[in-house]
Amino acid sequence: MSAPSANTGPSQPNPYYPRLFEPLAIGGTTLRNRIVMGSMHTGLEDRVWDTDKLAAYYAERARGGAGLIVTGGFAVSRTGQLLPFAGKMTNALDAKRHQRVTRAVHEAGGKIAMQLLQAGRYGYTPLKVAPGSENSPIHPFKNLPMPEPVIRHVIRSYGQAAKLARQAGYDAVEIMGGEGYLVNQFLCPHTNDRTDEWGGSTENRQRFLVEVITEIRRRVPRDFPVILRQSIADFVKGGQTWDEIALMARKAEALGVDAINTDIGWHEAGVPTIVTSVPRAAFVKFTERLRDEVSIPLIASNRINTPEVAEEILDRGRVDAVSMARPLLSDPEFPVKAMTGRADEINTCIGCNQACLDHAFVGKKVSCLLNPRAGRETTLTLGATRRARKVAVIGAGPAGLSAAVTAAQRGHRVELFEAGPTIGGQFSIAARIPGKEEFAETLRYYTRQLELNNVRVHLEERVDAEHIIAAGFDEVVVATGVTPRMPDIPGIDHPMVMSYADAVLGHREIGKRVAVIGAGGIGFDITEFLTVDDSPTLNLKEWEQEWGVSEDLDIPGFLTTPRPLPPIREVYLVQRKRGKQGKSLGKTTGWVHRASVKMKGVEQISGATYDKIDDAGLHLSFRDDDGAVRETRLLEVDNVVICAGQESVRDLVDPLTVAGVRTHVIGGADIAAELDAKRAIRQGTEVAAGIE
Ligand code: FAD
Ligand code: NAP
Ligand code: SF4
Repeated sequence: MSAPSANTGPSQPNPYYPRLFEPLAIGGTTLRNRIVMGSMHTGLEDRVWDTDKLAAYYAERARGGAGLIVTGGFAVSRTGQLLPFAGKMTNALDAKRHQRVTRAVHEAGGKIAMQLLQAGRYGYTPLKVAPGSENSPIHPFKNLPMPEPVIRHVIRSYGQAAKLARQAGYDAVEIMGGEGYLVNQFLCPHTNDRTDEWGGSTENRQRFLVEVITEIRRRVPRDFPVILRQSIADFVKGGQTWDEIALMARKAEALGVDAINTDIGWHEAGVPTIVTSVPRAAFVKFTERLRDEVSIPLIASNRINTPEVAEEILDRGRVDAVSMARPLLSDPEFPVKAMTGRADEINTCIGCNQACLDHAFVGKKVSCLLNPRAGRETTLTLGATRRARKVAVIGAGPAGLSAAVTAAQRGHRVELFEAGPTIGGQFSIAARIPGKEEFAETLRYYTRQLELNNVRVHLEERVDAEHIIAAGFDEVVVATGVTPRMPDIPGIDHPMVMSYADAVLGHREIGKRVAVIGAGGIGFDITEFLTVDDSPTLNLKEWEQEWGVSEDLDIPGFLTTPRPLPPIREVYLVQRKRGKQGKSLGKTTGWVHRASVKMKGVEQISGATYDKIDDAGLHLSFRDDDGAVRETRLLEVDNVVICAGQESVRDLVDPLTVAGVRTHVIGGADIAAELDAKRAIRQGTEVAAGIE
């Protein structure tokens, strides 16, 4: 049976998500539905030899049913490239190369817009230019303030790039006017301290964008759609006021912009805007406010990751489309699954950033923790097997789940053995951490996929090698994961000590004063878990208070003093290493964890030696380089929670190998160090891809 087409309907309203699957006219083009895959840089934009990979990546999303795909940002002139030699649209050769991308998307039934992006002070290049003299706090190089002729040149280049994009076959262009890139830098006093006609008054700061839109409109026909990605909440001091944002939106409409794709927060903003702990659809109210200002379509974005949330937003009637970038990375078939009533089959983006933005910000190719095929469509192929094999997967953590589901999807006969009462392994502990509730979606996804692909699941069945050998499997995947490490500290057996797993799973009562040993990813998560009450994620109001999001639209940037809820416990977070804690946390998420722990008044202690644990509490000492004790300290705590890393569970590996069973070892069972779900799922998928 062939897969349902993303193009069926929409003469009748869709029975599941009628608003989401209504067509939408933007300028002279009509989108088949209201799902816009927002712009995301993948790293495939920059090199000529990656063009076909980029085309395959977008084509897969077009086949999956996206209404419109917006590319990662392409510079209109070399002064605005994100990196030296980064993607650009400046000449006929660039346009010719991009025909391969647009053709692939059109053949797959989709539409695609090119985003035009000048990085300004956010460029990773010493040649960058920006409106003002203020350098970026998150980039190493200083920027040169733009002389007038350079400004004029860049404006002309926007027009030229839009014309070339149209020649390349793009269905629209999007002007990147948010996230703190060049256009946004002109708009805000924060980064625009010019005293000429491009700075100072609101009119002067808006002049650059006004001229860019005017120039683009001059170079492309009126029916060619021009979209503005407009920052409607900068979340930086010296950001725009609401009056300025509203005025700019009205000017854009008057100048011929066909839709506004709303954008939230600069990269350097102190308010998290996309990580998993941000409540779903947290910023839609800003987009809805813009409805009173313009009549062109408005697109909402940020933390919209399910069709239910998208439909609810559209149903309120003030927003016309939703932008989802990462959710279509994690599941390219999101639209078609929603359209055909199979939302429970969607691999929902969990907002972890681990394989997408964390990669993008260190110059690595973007992929997805949940979907390792993302960005590797031409190399990680998962076609049907020609010879169904009998496969055993031992362990239903992320590694085992991805191996079992992928192997079964390819046509193998799979049995999955799990010692615990549920699937998920360590990941199901993660799902109980406040702000990580989205992780439960992954377990829902795997539960459904196991069913759909007829995997025989044996829960509460701790298998041994003899059992597996006797059952005569053709291939065995050992995904037995990890177990928490209990360090060799005098008193480690004291009743006040517990593992992170015991703490989270509620196996033990936890007192009011707690020391956490180990400040890695799990140590930070457990610390956050211990400081908040049992209620799930903060509601939006509380979350805004915690992070200082202002309701007062006259305040530039909408920032106010954060008012975090008080911690419910007094927590000490301790590590042996000297220096700042949390260095191993994710590039784009670590700062949120560090800030959360700080706002809860957690005392962070580094450079400690664990001397002993007894009835009095945790005894620490601090030593000089020569080992001499400089200071001792007693933390008078009720409990000590151990987050000191993990050790591999590998007891099945040797007996199976010795017995000559074809054995693959993946995830934590393979290597415990630096294990995360990204590696576990990638290894599971790859091993299943290789079983022929
Ligand atoms: P595991 O998850 O350990 O699963 C192994 C499974 O095998 C277990 O269910 C176990 O019961 C089963 N098993 C073992 N032996 C047998 C046997 N003989 N028979 C049958 N079954 C057996 N990772 C991230 O990437 N991002 C995060 O944000 C993140 N946050 C985390 C937060 C917390 C609090 C925790 C605890 C972990 C977090 N992790 C995170 C880590 C992530 O969960 C692990 O890296 C991942 O679960 C490892 O997957 P795995 O399948 O290799 O092993
Ligand atoms: P980890 O990041 O390696 O941290 C382990 C901590 O334990 C370190 O702080 C280490 O610090 C300490 N430690 C190690 N051996 C010890 C010993 N013998 N005695 C005392 N302390 C010891 O591992 P983790 O926190 O267990 O996390 C496991 C994996 O899950 C990580 O690799 C991470 O990628 C993933 N994870 C990711 C996230 C995320 O948000 N992305 C969240 C949670 C987990 P000292 O040596 O300085 O004491
Ligand atoms: Fe979403 Fe995480 Fe995948 Fe990025 S890596 S798309 S945030 S699930």
